[in-house]
Amino acid sequence: MSVLVVTGGSRGIGAAVCRRAPHDVVVNYAGDAAAAESVVAEVRASGRRAIAVRADVSVESEVDDLFAAAAELGPVTALVANAGVTGEVRGRVDEVPAEAMRRVLEVNVLGVFHCLRAAVRRMSTRHGGAGGAIVAVSSTAAKRGSPGEWAHYAASKAAVETLAYGLALEVAAEGVRVNTIAPGVVRTELHAAAGDPGRPDRLGAVIPIGRAGEPEEIADGILWLLGPQASFVTGAVLPVSGGF
Ligand code: NAP
Repeated sequence: MSVLVVTGGSRGIGAAVCRRAPHDVVVNYAGDAAAAESVVAEVRASGRRAIAVRADVSVESEVDDLFAAAAELGPVTALVANAGVTGEVRGRVDEVPAEAMRRVLEVNVLGVFHCLRAAVRRMSTRHGGAGGAIVAVSSTAAKRGSPGEWAHYAASKAAVETLAYGLALEVAAEGVRVNTIAPGVVRTELHAAAGDPGRPDRLGAVIPIGRAGEPEEIADGILWLLGPQASFVTGAVLPVSGGF
Protein backbone atom coordinates (compact mmCIF):
# COMPACT_ATOMS: atom_id res chain seq x y z
CA MET A 1 0.00 0.00 0.00
CA SER A 2 1.32 3.46 -0.79
CA VAL A 3 2.33 5.76 2.03
CA LEU A 4 0.56 9.07 2.70
CA VAL A 5 1.87 11.79 5.02
CA VAL A 6 -0.86 14.05 6.45
CA THR A 7 0.36 17.09 8.34
CA GLY A 8 -2.06 18.07 11.08
CA GLY A 9 -3.60 14.62 10.70
CA SER A 10 -4.70 14.34 14.31
CA ARG A 11 -7.82 16.54 14.19
CA GLY A 12 -10.35 18.13 11.86
CA ILE A 13 -9.86 17.87 8.11
CA GLY A 14 -6.52 16.05 8.39
CA ALA A 15 -7.97 13.37 10.64
CA ALA A 16 -10.84 12.81 8.18
CA VAL A 17 -8.27 12.32 5.40
CA CYS A 18 -6.39 9.76 7.50
CA ARG A 19 -9.59 7.85 8.30
CA ARG A 20 -10.82 7.73 4.67
CA ALA A 21 -7.56 7.37 2.70
CA PRO A 22 -6.80 4.14 0.83
CA HIS A 23 -3.17 4.43 2.03
CA ASP A 24 -0.96 3.57 4.94
CA VAL A 25 -0.76 6.87 6.79
CA VAL A 26 1.64 8.99 8.79
CA VAL A 27 -0.45 11.04 11.19
CA ASN A 28 1.53 14.18 11.94
CA TYR A 29 0.62 16.42 14.85
CA ALA A 30 2.18 19.31 16.77
CA GLY A 31 1.20 18.79 20.40
CA ASP A 32 -1.82 16.59 21.05
CA ALA A 33 -0.36 13.06 21.00
CA ALA A 34 -3.53 11.46 22.35
CA ALA A 35 -5.61 12.78 19.43
CA ALA A 36 -3.02 11.51 16.94
CA GLU A 37 -2.86 8.06 18.59
CA SER A 38 -6.63 7.82 18.48
CA VAL A 39 -6.60 8.43 14.70
CA VAL A 40 -3.79 5.87 14.34
CA ALA A 41 -5.91 3.31 16.21
CA GLU A 42 -8.88 3.94 13.90
CA VAL A 43 -6.72 3.56 10.78
CA ARG A 44 -5.18 0.33 12.07
CA ALA A 45 -8.63 -1.01 12.90
CA SER A 46 -9.49 -0.58 9.21
CA GLY A 47 -6.57 -2.83 8.22
CA ARG A 48 -4.06 -0.20 7.18
CA ARG A 49 -0.73 0.67 8.76
CA ALA A 50 -0.35 3.98 10.58
CA ILE A 51 2.10 5.81 12.78
CA ALA A 52 1.85 9.09 14.68
CA VAL A 53 4.79 11.46 14.33
CA ARG A 54 5.14 14.73 16.22
CA ALA A 55 6.70 17.52 14.19
CA ASP A 56 6.15 21.26 14.07
CA VAL A 57 6.01 21.86 10.32
CA SER A 58 7.44 25.35 10.76
CA VAL A 59 10.77 23.80 11.87
CA GLU A 60 12.84 22.49 8.95
CA SER A 61 14.69 19.82 10.95
CA GLU A 62 11.43 18.46 12.39
CA VAL A 63 9.97 18.08 8.89
CA ASP A 64 13.12 16.21 7.84
CA ASP A 65 12.62 13.92 10.84
CA LEU A 66 8.94 13.48 9.91
CA PHE A 67 9.78 12.25 6.42
CA ALA A 68 12.58 10.04 7.77
CA ALA A 69 10.08 8.42 10.15
CA ALA A 70 7.57 8.05 7.31
CA ALA A 71 10.11 6.07 5.28
CA GLU A 72 9.82 3.31 7.90
CA LEU A 73 6.41 2.50 6.35
CA GLY A 74 7.84 2.60 2.81
CA PRO A 75 8.48 5.20 0.11
CA VAL A 76 6.22 8.24 0.52
CA THR A 77 4.03 8.67 -2.58
CA ALA A 78 1.45 11.10 -1.26
CA LEU A 79 1.38 14.23 0.92
CA VAL A 80 -1.45 16.35 2.25
CA ALA A 81 0.08 19.59 3.51
CA ASN A 82 -2.86 20.37 5.76
CA ALA A 83 -1.50 21.77 9.05
CA GLY A 84 -2.57 25.37 9.41
CA VAL A 85 -3.37 27.95 12.07
CA THR A 86 -5.17 31.29 12.33
CA GLY A 87 -2.76 32.71 14.88
CA GLU A 88 -5.58 32.24 17.40
CA VAL A 89 -6.84 35.75 16.74
CA ARG A 90 -9.68 37.30 14.78
CA GLY A 91 -9.91 40.94 13.91
CA ARG A 92 -9.07 43.69 11.46
CA VAL A 93 -5.54 44.02 10.17
CA ASP A 94 -5.04 47.11 12.33
CA GLU A 95 -5.83 44.99 15.41
CA VAL A 96 -3.76 41.88 14.70
CA PRO A 97 -0.48 41.59 16.63
CA ALA A 98 2.57 41.15 14.42
CA GLU A 99 3.45 38.06 16.44
CA ALA A 100 0.20 36.38 15.32
CA MET A 101 0.97 37.21 11.68
CA ARG A 102 4.50 35.86 12.11
CA ARG A 103 3.25 32.56 13.51
CA VAL A 104 0.65 32.22 10.74
CA LEU A 105 3.34 32.72 8.10
CA GLU A 106 5.70 30.31 9.85
CA VAL A 107 3.17 27.48 10.01
CA ASN A 108 0.99 28.08 6.96
CA VAL A 109 3.63 29.22 4.45
CA LEU A 110 7.06 28.13 5.66
CA GLY A 111 5.57 24.88 6.99
CA VAL A 112 3.94 24.07 3.65
CA PHE A 113 7.19 25.00 1.88
CA HIS A 114 9.18 22.60 4.09
CA CYS A 115 6.73 19.76 3.47
CA LEU A 116 6.30 20.26 -0.28
CA ARG A 117 10.06 20.41 -0.72
CA ALA A 118 10.70 17.32 1.39
CA ALA A 119 8.05 15.39 -0.55
CA VAL A 120 9.33 16.41 -3.98
CA ARG A 121 12.88 15.45 -2.99
CA ARG A 122 11.55 11.93 -2.40
CA MET A 123 8.89 11.60 -5.13
CA SER A 124 10.30 13.36 -8.19
CA THR A 125 11.90 11.19 -10.87
CA ARG A 126 14.56 13.93 -10.99
CA HIS A 127 15.59 12.81 -7.52
CA GLY A 128 15.26 9.08 -8.26
CA GLY A 129 11.72 8.81 -6.90
CA ALA A 130 8.79 6.93 -8.38
CA GLY A 131 6.40 9.90 -8.57
CA GLY A 132 3.48 10.83 -6.40
CA ALA A 133 0.75 13.32 -5.64
CA ILE A 134 0.57 16.30 -3.30
CA VAL A 135 -2.39 18.32 -2.07
CA ALA A 136 -1.86 21.60 -0.22
CA VAL A 137 -4.72 22.97 1.86
CA SER A 138 -5.50 26.65 1.39
CA SER A 139 -8.89 28.30 2.02
CA THR A 140 -11.50 30.26 0.11
CA ALA A 141 -10.30 33.04 2.43
CA ALA A 142 -7.44 33.48 -0.07
CA LYS A 143 -9.98 34.90 -2.55
CA ARG A 144 -12.41 36.47 -0.07
CA GLY A 145 -9.75 38.34 1.92
CA SER A 146 -11.75 37.67 5.11
CA PRO A 147 -12.08 41.35 6.16
CA GLY A 148 -12.69 41.93 9.85
CA GLU A 149 -11.88 38.32 10.65
CA TRP A 150 -8.49 37.12 9.50
CA ALA A 151 -7.02 38.87 6.47
CA HIS A 152 -3.60 37.91 7.87
CA TYR A 153 -4.56 34.23 7.58
CA ALA A 154 -6.16 34.77 4.16
CA ALA A 155 -2.89 36.21 2.87
CA SER A 156 -0.99 33.15 4.03
CA LYS A 157 -3.40 30.92 2.12
CA ALA A 158 -2.93 32.94 -1.08
CA ALA A 159 0.79 32.24 -0.69
CA VAL A 160 0.06 28.51 -0.37
CA GLU A 161 -1.89 28.54 -3.64
CA THR A 162 0.86 30.36 -5.53
CA LEU A 163 3.63 28.17 -4.12
CA ALA A 164 1.76 25.00 -5.01
CA TYR A 165 0.98 26.28 -8.50
CA GLY A 166 4.58 27.15 -9.28
CA LEU A 167 5.80 23.84 -7.89
CA ALA A 168 3.18 21.95 -9.90
CA LEU A 169 4.59 23.36 -13.12
CA GLU A 170 8.16 22.59 -12.04
CA VAL A 171 7.50 18.91 -11.37
CA ALA A 172 4.68 18.15 -13.83
CA ALA A 173 7.04 16.18 -16.08
CA GLU A 174 8.73 14.48 -13.11
CA GLY A 175 5.84 12.24 -12.10
CA VAL A 176 4.49 14.49 -9.36
CA ARG A 177 1.08 16.19 -9.40
CA VAL A 178 0.55 19.14 -7.07
CA ASN A 179 -2.88 20.58 -6.40
CA THR A 180 -4.56 22.78 -3.81
CA ILE A 181 -7.91 22.40 -2.11
CA ALA A 182 -9.65 25.52 -0.85
CA PRO A 183 -12.19 24.65 1.85
CA GLY A 184 -14.89 27.09 2.84
CA VAL A 185 -16.22 27.12 6.40
CA VAL A 186 -15.77 23.65 7.90
CA ARG A 187 -16.97 22.33 11.24
CA THR A 188 -13.65 21.80 13.09
CA GLU A 189 -11.98 23.10 16.24
CA LEU A 190 -10.12 25.78 14.28
CA HIS A 191 -12.91 28.32 14.90
CA ALA A 192 -12.90 27.82 18.67
CA ALA A 193 -9.11 28.15 18.66
CA ALA A 194 -9.56 31.58 17.06
CA GLY A 195 -12.09 32.52 19.75
CA ASP A 196 -15.26 32.03 17.67
CA PRO A 197 -16.72 28.54 18.22
CA GLY A 198 -20.13 29.59 16.83
CA ARG A 199 -18.73 30.67 13.45
CA PRO A 200 -19.71 27.58 11.39
CA ASP A 201 -23.33 27.75 12.58
CA ARG A 202 -23.55 31.53 12.22
CA LEU A 203 -22.15 31.57 8.67
CA GLY A 204 -24.48 28.78 7.58
CA ALA A 205 -26.99 31.51 6.75
CA VAL A 206 -24.72 33.18 4.18
CA ILE A 207 -23.17 30.06 2.66
CA PRO A 208 -25.12 29.47 -0.58
CA ILE A 209 -25.61 25.77 0.12
CA GLY A 210 -27.08 26.73 3.52
CA ARG A 211 -24.63 25.21 5.98
CA ALA A 212 -20.99 24.78 6.95
CA GLY A 213 -19.08 21.79 5.57
CA GLU A 214 -18.04 18.67 7.40
CA PRO A 215 -14.38 17.56 7.50
CA GLU A 216 -15.25 14.40 5.56
CA GLU A 217 -16.56 16.48 2.64
CA ILE A 218 -13.20 18.22 2.35
CA ALA A 219 -11.32 14.93 2.78
CA ASP A 220 -13.16 13.42 -0.18
CA GLY A 221 -12.07 16.29 -2.42
CA ILE A 222 -8.49 15.88 -1.22
CA LEU A 223 -8.55 12.13 -1.85
CA TRP A 224 -9.95 12.67 -5.35
CA LEU A 225 -7.07 15.05 -6.12
CA LEU A 226 -4.57 12.52 -4.74
CA GLY A 227 -6.04 9.57 -6.59
CA PRO A 228 -5.92 8.09 -10.08
CA GLN A 229 -9.16 9.72 -11.20
CA ALA A 230 -7.31 13.05 -11.11
CA SER A 231 -4.39 11.73 -13.16
CA PHE A 232 -4.53 14.71 -15.58
CA VAL A 233 -5.08 17.34 -12.88
CA THR A 234 -2.15 19.42 -11.69
CA GLY A 235 -1.73 23.05 -10.68
CA ALA A 236 -5.45 23.27 -9.87
CA VAL A 237 -7.23 24.93 -6.96
CA LEU A 238 -10.42 23.06 -6.06
CA PRO A 239 -12.88 25.04 -3.92
CA VAL A 240 -14.98 22.80 -1.64
CA SER A 241 -17.05 25.44 0.00
CA GLY A 242 -20.78 25.14 -0.64
CA GLY A 243 -20.41 28.13 -2.96
CA PHE A 244 -18.95 30.45 -0.28
P1 NAP B 1 -7.87 22.00 13.30
O1 NAP B 1 -9.10 21.21 13.55
O2 NAP B 1 -7.58 23.19 14.15
O3 NAP B 1 -6.62 20.98 13.34
C1 NAP B 1 -5.34 21.50 13.10
C2 NAP B 1 -4.35 20.35 12.96
O4 NAP B 1 -3.08 20.91 12.60
C3 NAP B 1 -4.15 19.56 14.24
O5 NAP B 1 -3.88 18.23 13.89
C4 NAP B 1 -2.91 20.23 14.82
O6 NAP B 1 -2.18 19.35 15.69
C5 NAP B 1 -2.12 20.50 13.56
N1 NAP B 1 -1.11 21.56 13.69
C6 NAP B 1 -1.27 22.83 14.11
N2 NAP B 1 -0.10 23.49 14.07
C7 NAP B 1 0.82 22.61 13.60
C8 NAP B 1 2.20 22.67 13.35
N3 NAP B 1 2.91 23.80 13.56
N4 NAP B 1 2.83 21.57 12.88
C9 NAP B 1 2.15 20.42 12.68
N5 NAP B 1 0.83 20.29 12.89
C10 NAP B 1 0.17 21.38 13.35
O7 NAP B 1 -7.82 22.55 11.79
P2 NAP B 1 -8.76 22.26 10.53
O8 NAP B 1 -9.93 23.16 10.61
O9 NAP B 1 -8.93 20.80 10.32
O10 NAP B 1 -7.84 22.88 9.37
C11 NAP B 1 -6.99 22.08 8.56
C12 NAP B 1 -6.53 22.95 7.41
O11 NAP B 1 -7.68 23.41 6.67
C13 NAP B 1 -5.77 24.21 7.83
O12 NAP B 1 -4.73 24.47 6.93
C14 NAP B 1 -6.82 25.29 7.76
O13 NAP B 1 -6.25 26.56 7.55
C15 NAP B 1 -7.61 24.82 6.55
N6 NAP B 1 -8.97 25.34 6.47
C16 NAP B 1 -9.86 25.13 7.47
C17 NAP B 1 -11.13 25.66 7.37
C18 NAP B 1 -12.17 25.48 8.44
O14 NAP B 1 -13.24 26.12 8.35
N7 NAP B 1 -11.97 24.62 9.42
C19 NAP B 1 -11.49 26.40 6.23
C20 NAP B 1 -10.56 26.60 5.24
C21 NAP B 1 -9.30 26.06 5.36
P3 NAP B 1 -2.21 19.58 17.31
O15 NAP B 1 -3.64 19.40 17.74
O16 NAP B 1 -1.30 18.51 17.84
O17 NAP B 1 -1.71 20.98 17.54
